[in-house]
Amino acid sequence: MTEHLYLDHNATTPIDPLVCDAMLPWLKNEFGNPSSVYALGRRAAAALATAREQVAALVGAQPSEIIFNSCGTEATNTAILSALAIDPDKRHIITSAVEHSATIKLCEYLATRGYEITWLPVSKEGLLDPAKLEAAITSDTAVVSLLWANNETGILFPVEEIAAITRSKKVPLHLDAVQAAGKVPINLEALGAQYVSLSAHKLYAPKGAGALYVNRRARYTPLLRGSQEETRRGGTQNVASIVAFGKAAELALAAMTTAPERIAALRNRFEQTLLSTIEGVRRNGTEEPRLPNTSNLSFSGIEAEAALLLFDQEGLCCSAGSACSSGSINPSHVLTAMGVTRDEARASLRFSLGRTTTEVEIDRALEIITRVVAKLRAALPTDGSPVQFAA
Ligand code: PLP
Repeated sequence: MTEHLYLDHNATTPIDPLVCDAMLPWLKNEFGNPSSVYALGRRAAAALATAREQVAALVGAQPSEIIFNSCGTEATNTAILSALAIDPDKRHIITSAVEHSATIKLCEYLATRGYEITWLPVSKEGLLDPAKLEAAITSDTAVVSLLWANNETGILFPVEEIAAITRSKKVPLHLDAVQAAGKVPINLEALGAQYVSLSAHKLYAPKGAGALYVNRRARYTPLLRGSQEETRRGGTQNVASIVAFGKAAELALAAMTTAPERIAALRNRFEQTLLSTIEGVRRNGTEEPRLPNTSNLSFSGIEAEAALLLFDQEGLCCSAGSACSSGSINPSHVLTAMGVTRDEARASLRFSLGRTTTEVEIDRALEIITRVVAKLRAALPTDGSPVQFAA
């Protein structure tokens, strides 16, 4: 079997062995319900409390401000719907054109229910202009929901300026920090956003756990009603995955002093090598401010989906700037919002490095990418149109 050369950490991360060790007891003997009063249940409740402290520490929050749930998507849906429920007369939502589908699909649905959605544009560099946010806020605005870091390009939004604007306009702010947590420093106490989404599986913990930060002064209504999480999120907690989330947050916080810098150096060498040694390669979006691990590049004349198939034969995992759905290839909404042409978007690949990525892996990836791009270009039809591969 080909070994994985995994450069797709923005999609999901491998489980850290220490995280796996921490969660195993909670999948075996420690099966208690954290709401039960006997010792087995009390131990589970204590494990949740520890995890809450660990996740809170990663993002500079109080443990009581962390509500555990199933995933980042649930956190985002809960935050936006909470803000709408609190102020039902307000019917305007502000978000951006480059959000994750968790936000986009909910806002598209809410538009069909009569809400007005403002989709803030981004520049060619992928940057958000805070002045455009300020101008878009009206007395009818119920919530502003924006990414902290973009999952496709890694580009960071100016969250301090965004929070200052929403604070001065007294509009609740939700930030999707699913990609940012563990990659850039986060201090929610200082920031003052009302809601922030987090997800365990981007942090070297398993899928199936997430969290919503709700500022202790913010108003909040739950999405799932029940007695758990102090009635803020009903449903028996996924204890093992939440324990894993906590351990992963602790490890991410400990790694913050060295890992981002090391990963950025690797990413920069990777990106600079491709930009300087292969013709027709362009970075999508600004160099900074960006997550340290993400590189989104367009390779003129190739079809990214075809490159993924050839990479897969060699074990290299990354993502395309387009998605195949019902037989046709749709260019990424993030890249098209940045003014990247359809063809360039279809020729774009996202590489996202992780804590365990090594120099040797980067060298191997560079070799594979160089070879595959040359092969795809050699197969180019003579009229210059990108080569079509059956999906
Ligand atoms: N927000 C961003 C920016 C993401 O990248 C993702 C996952 O890819 C999500 C939200 C959704 O998180 P989850 O997979 O935990 O639902």
